[in-house]
Amino acid sequence: MTLKGKNAVVTGSTSGIGLAYAKALAAEGVNVLINGFGDKDAIEAERSGLETTFGVKAVYSPADMTKPAEIAGMIETGTSAFGSVDILINNAGIQYVSPVEEFPDDKWNQIIAINLSSAFHAIKAAVPGMKKSGWGRIISTASAHSLVASPFKSAYVTAKHGLLGLTKTVALEVATDKITANCISPGYVWTPLVEKQIPDTMKARNLTREQVMHDVLLEAQPTKEFVTSEEVAAIAVFLCSDAAAQITGANISVDGGWTAA
Ligand code: NAD
Repeated sequence: MTLKGKNAVVTGSTSGIGLAYAKALAAEGVNVLINGFGDKDAIEAERSGLETTFGVKAVYSPADMTKPAEIAGMIETGTSAFGSVDILINNAGIQYVSPVEEFPDDKWNQIIAINLSSAFHAIKAAVPGMKKSGWGRIISTASAHSLVASPFKSAYVTAKHGLLGLTKTVALEVATDKITANCISPGYVWTPLVEKQIPDTMKARNLTREQVMHDVLLEAQPTKEFVTSEEVAAIAVFLCSDAAAQITGANISVDGGWTAA
């Protein structure tokens, strides 16, 4: 089936994996709402680039994923710009690395809000429209940390495990509405999120930068390679296709074998 003419909202799509989702969907003819923070000119260049390169409609919503009203507003923006939101990708996420006894309360709350609660609020706002049109795809970027833990990432690991629970529950609730809900769980992808956690990981584990790069990041993945954002985005395109109509409540690992080990 072609996805041409479908409409997607991708949260946290101003960089990294989210931007790759936006490009991969636009390449299939999907209109895309992009969201996230960053340099205004760079975001506008990405938005207009999607329109000129792929001939789709692209809009930007600055909705903050810690604010439920802004999340609902983002779904409304997508619906009024495109006529419907058929595909929702919950992707916004941040990371914080610290021993649990020193983990700041505000960081815990922020990570749970952005990485987990935002998906709940976006799904809640998007499902009525999907039910009305009789078709929908909900995809959430979880992580290998939806299945396995690493020390010093208590909030992130908790949020990603929760995202998988939310996804399975929603999948059951909308199973007869031709709406699927799935998680994609990447291993390490070289993005600003991974780069930013290196200094705190060095401190928490008493390692050099080279040791973190090798022992913590690459050693986790039997392939000894970073996953690419494009490899993750290709799975999202597949999950949106009719070929994946019976895949729901699933967690697709794209982690170089990390969670098999
Ligand atoms: P990234 O830092 O490149 O992208 C994060 C995106 O989220 C950006 O667009 C940022 O502006 C946005 N964002 C952050 N806070 C926000 C907020 N309050 N409101 C709206 N947008 C906000 O990181 P990434 O690695 O591409 O991460 C994307 C997703 O992939 C995250 O959910 C992350 O947990 C997950 N993930 C990443 C990796 C990896 O190795 N990079 C591995 C597994 C899962």
